[in-house]
Amino acid sequence: MDRSAELYERSKKVTPGGVSSPVRAFKPNPLFIAEGHGCRLKDVDGREYVDLCMSYGPMITGYGCPIVEKAAMAQISKGTVYGAPSEPELDLIERIVKEVPSADMVRLSCSGTEATMHAIRVARGFTGRDDIIKMNGGFHGAHDAALVAAGSGSAGGVPSSKGVLADVAKHTFTAQYNDIQSMSDILDKQDIACVIMEPIMGNVGVVTPEKGYLDEVRKVTKEHDTILIFDEVITGFRASSGGAQLRYGVTPDMTTMGKIIGGGFAAGAFMGRKDILENVAPQGGIYAAGTFAGNPVSAAAGLAQIDLMCRNDNYGKLEKRTERLVSTIMDCMADSNVKGCVNSVASMFSVFFGIDRATTGTEAMAADREMYDRMFRYMLDHGVYLPPSALEVDFMSLAHRGEDIAVLEEGFKGFFESVKK
Ligand SMILES: *Cc1c(COP(=O)(O)O)cnc(C)c1O
Repeated sequence: MDRSAELYERSKKVTPGGVSSPVRAFKPNPLFIAEGHGCRLKDVDGREYVDLCMSYGPMITGYGCPIVEKAAMAQISKGTVYGAPSEPELDLIERIVKEVPSADMVRLSCSGTEATMHAIRVARGFTGRDDIIKMNGGFHGAHDAALVAAGSGSAGGVPSSKGVLADVAKHTFTAQYNDIQSMSDILDKQDIACVIMEPIMGNVGVVTPEKGYLDEVRKVTKEHDTILIFDEVITGFRASSGGAQLRYGVTPDMTTMGKIIGGGFAAGAFMGRKDILENVAPQGGIYAAGTFAGNPVSAAAGLAQIDLMCRNDNYGKLEKRTERLVSTIMDCMADSNVKGCVNSVASMFSVFFGIDRATTGTEAMAADREMYDRMFRYMLDHGVYLPPSALEVDFMSLAHRGEDIAVLEEGFKGFFESVKK
């Protein structure tokens, strides 16, 4: 038995499913990771992998990036949490305000889940409305208003997890991404506090906005005095230095972030128009709080990571490297006659099997997950760690360079060769 299997045996006795977050589980056992350097993970059995999961998004400069590590270490030696304001959090907030079009004011939190939970409360408190809209297949963290699936007919949603109250879920309506009519229909019938959506979907794999779609979303939400929240927990400081909103030139009323802004430490943030954010306590009457919110280590590491990415055309370079890899994968797929498609934008991509296109949550969720699982296992055997579940995103980082990309290309070539028709 290898050491990961041993640790998993111990782990599943004391934590549900043996993991701290469900998406990490796979059969027969998840790998326990001992170290990460650059874009490479080493498991507890000493096997090394080129990582394309990258902790689901935060590690855009790679594991142990010297500049980020130095900033974190310097802060750690001065204390890790104070329960009082500190300069690192202010520096991070000011940087976000400078880079992100929708951010007049920012409130830091500890995770993306918290950020979206608070943002929805702020939208409800500000508008005095109860109902909200999310997208089919959209993910906004693990809290009650977001753990909702589409209901039948024109009613609100139903719980997508046991323990979520039906009374809560009925206030969350579901529209289809890239289908403006589905959103307008709900807005016309209900008083909606906010639309919360990923401007680029990233939790059904990557699904990108069709030309003009986000402009339409902006237009119809404005017409109904509905707050538009872009959940940029993945795309913030990923899709561009100003997120997807800068890339597509559409400015929402509020934005949520997480992942990259913590530089590999826990972090989240919600931000938006001044007249909205002014209503957050202690300035206003909408409550949001957290012991670790604005954590100085997360803030110092996050700012260092953001600052590095915003220099030397690093976003442009990373995107070009990603485009080359994606085009190799597409060629391999075409040569193999395996049905599928690859979606990509900036430094993120997803390989879908069994479908010709994925432009909505519904289409993406129809992809062949068994085939994905075959690819995951083949790649693992050939030194590449993909996200274990289908419908996740492959993330490139600044640390993915020549030799690492060669390992990735060899892996994908070999896989498609092995399934060639
Ligand atoms: C990861 C993610 C979240 C949740 O963030 P956590 O830090 O895991 O709580 C929310 N929204 C989106 C779009 C995400 O990808």
